[in-house]
Amino acid sequence: MSEEGIFQKIIDGEIPAERVYEDDDFIAIKDIAPKAPVHLLVIPKTLSPRLDEMLDVQGAGDVGALFEAAVKTARANELEDYRLVVNVGPGAGQEVFHTHVHILAGWDGPAPLG
Ligand code: AMP
Repeated sequence: MSEEGIFQKIIDGEIPAERVYEDDDFIAIKDIAPKAPVHLLVIPKTLSPRLDEMLDVQGAGDVGALFEAAVKTARANELEDYRLVVNVGPGAGQEVFHTHVHILAGWDGPAPLG
């Protein structure tokens, strides 16, 4: 299966994932390979391959809504301090070409960069 299709299959319930937030336009799940003590992914239900393309095609309102969903997900999971990361393009480490925001949290002390 292509990496691009993984999140759509999760949205459609064809691949299991632990959902930690959902509304009409977004789901949030636990990352299968966490890079921090808490690692969540906020995923729009409408496919856009990468954040810059989402901005160009859908506009700043949808990009803002994605970040609003990230903050709502953090609050729903009782996270007060967290890092939001978006990898834009393969050179930045993007592996799944369905735009998503990483929520990273749960360090004991200041969050490490990188
Ligand atoms: P990125 O590298 O920014 O495209 O992030 C893709 C993320 O999706 C990685 O952190 C993966 O661990 C995560 N991932 C891939 N497949 C799954 C899955 N089936 N369930 C949950 N997370 C996944």
